[in-house]
Parts: sequence; C-alpha cells; structure tokens
Amino acid sequence: MQNSITIDDIQAAANRLNSIANRTPVLTSRTINKLTKNQVFLKSENFQRTGSFKFRGAFNALSQLSIEQKEQGVITFSSGNHAQGLALAGKLLDIPTTIVMPDDAPAVKQAATRGYGAEIVLYKRKETSREKLTQVLAEQKGLKIIPPFDHPHIIAGQGTTALELIGEVGELDLLLVCCGGGGLISGCAIATKALAPNCKVIGVEPEKANDATLSFYSKTIHVIENPNTIADGARTHRLGELTFPLILQHVDEMVTVSEEAIIRTMLFLWERLKIVVEPTGTLAAAALLEGVVKAPGARVGVVISGGNVDLRKFFREFQ
Ligand SMILES: *Cc1c(COP(=O)(O)O)cnc(C)c1O
Repeated sequence: MQNSITIDDIQAAANRLNSIANRTPVLTSRTINKLTKNQVFLKSENFQRTGSFKFRGAFNALSQLSIEQKEQGVITFSSGNHAQGLALAGKLLDIPTTIVMPDDAPAVKQAATRGYGAEIVLYKRKETSREKLTQVLAEQKGLKIIPPFDHPHIIAGQGTTALELIGEVGELDLLLVCCGGGGLISGCAIATKALAPNCKVIGVEPEKANDATLSFYSKTIHVIENPNTIADGARTHRLGELTFPLILQHVDEMVTVSEEAIIRTMLFLWERLKIVVEPTGTLAAAALLEGVVKAPGARVGVVISGGNVDLRKFFREFQ
C-alpha cells in the first residue's frame, strides 16, 4: 500500500542518500541545557545541501522515477526550499526541473533555485492556484509532478533526518519538529516510533498558521488560506491526504509559537550557537526555549529544519 510508509522505506531512503546528502551536525549547547533543564540535541539541517532538509525527500523521490520520467523532467510548486532541493537533486541525477514559485518568495531562494539550473515560473500568491498552474504545465509538457510534502518518497526521505539523529545520539524522550504540510514531521515520527517507541513527538507551528494544530485536535482537515507568518516554510494552507493520517497516527501533540517567539529564537540561535536559521527552522527550538513545551530532565531532539533566510530583508524589517 502506497501510503503506509515504514522504517524500511526510510532506511532505503537513507541508503540512497548515503554520501550524497550531508550527514548534518547534531549541535549541543550548555546554555540551552541550563535554560531548559533538558539535554538538548539540535539536528541542524540548515547545514544540509541547499540549506534545508528538503533535499532529502527530493533526491529520494527523483532517484526512484522511471527512465522515461527522468528524461521528460519534473515540476513542482514550492515556497522555496523544496524548489532548491528538487533543483539540486535534478542536477545531480540529470533530470530537468521546472519550479512554480510565488513571486514574493525570498530572493535568495529564487536565485539559488535558478543557480541549480531549474526553470522558474512565477505566480501571484493571491490570484493563482499554484496546484492548478502546476497541473496545466505538467500536462502541456509531460512533466511528473513532485509535490513538496504529500508523497510517500518525499515523506520517507524527510524521515532520514530523525533516523540519523537517533542513530547518532541514541534514545530520546521527546522530539520536536516543525510542521508545514507535514512531510518532515510524518517521516520523522515514523522513524522515531520505530527506533525509540517511548519518545514523544511534538509538532510545532506558527500561531498564525495553526491549521495542522486545529486539524490534529479536531481530527478533520482545517484550511487556512495565505496565512500571514514570517515562517514562510509553514505557510502551507493545509495538511496533505497522506500526511494528515500519518500525523494523527504517529504524532503525540501539536503546539504553536508566536511570531515574536520565532524572531527571538532566530536571534538567540544566531548569538548563542552562531548558526543562521530561517524563521521556519526555529519553530521547534522556539517551542522549547520559550517554554511552550516543558519536560524537565528529558533528552530532547530538536530539528532545525533550514537556514535560507534573506538576511538583507530581515534586517530591513526587524532592526
Ligand atoms: C518545508 C519546510 C518546513 C515544513 O516542512 P513540511 O514537510 O511541509 O511540514 C519546515 N522548515 C523548513 C525550513 C522548510 O523548508
């Protein structure tokens, strides 16, 4: 069954990614341990190729296409990081990539995506359905759609993040993962429950884009169109057909953090850990550092999901 993703799928993805993806560092900080009264392990995907975990899923998905599909090429819609991950995976595997991207996507993301040789088609977020536009282009040009999260190979690829983390540091009591469309947290939760069944998995969203939290607790999918949060990787309007049931099955809790908490955490990680993390990348750390999640004495894994931030824009807005 296509949508029952197992630890074997995640292990197979890890084998495909071996020596291609970066084995990202697990950072620790005495300051964070002292502040939170936890032993905290930060799996830092801001050091992944293309600057986020999205490369994992993209490469895993592209490497499993048929020869014909590889020749025709692929297309996707993305607010940026999936685009970059897919573009690089396409380049490495010699597969042409087309990216449908909102015209307000951060300049660094657009430039990086073009830099990997992808063709970019821009659309206006408020006027166009990116799904429809992608579908039309795919049909016109015979391209295979590779969605950013709702695909079993994407989910399995993202799950290698938790597989690596637990493989390196051993059992955890708690794993905190940010949630947009839910690909990362689905894959990570499946890996975690297989490797460390007693580990609780908590998803973190921006307060202003809390569709997954509402969906999780009501057990029906909530939709929030064009949520206005600085965490652009979590601006997805809803969970997917695959990710929603996986989250219900494998995730223990969902929490939210404020915009102010996200910005404070970006600066904290920068000042104290000397790492550049994009707003969405801070969500899981923010939940812990801001006391939204409290678990004194616990061994806590935190996924730092990405580091692609338009620093010039950030300084203009928040100086
Ligand atoms: C895509 C993305 C997310 C959200 O991932 P989902 O699989 O959509 O939940 C979080 N952080 C960063 C940096 C991302 O690029």
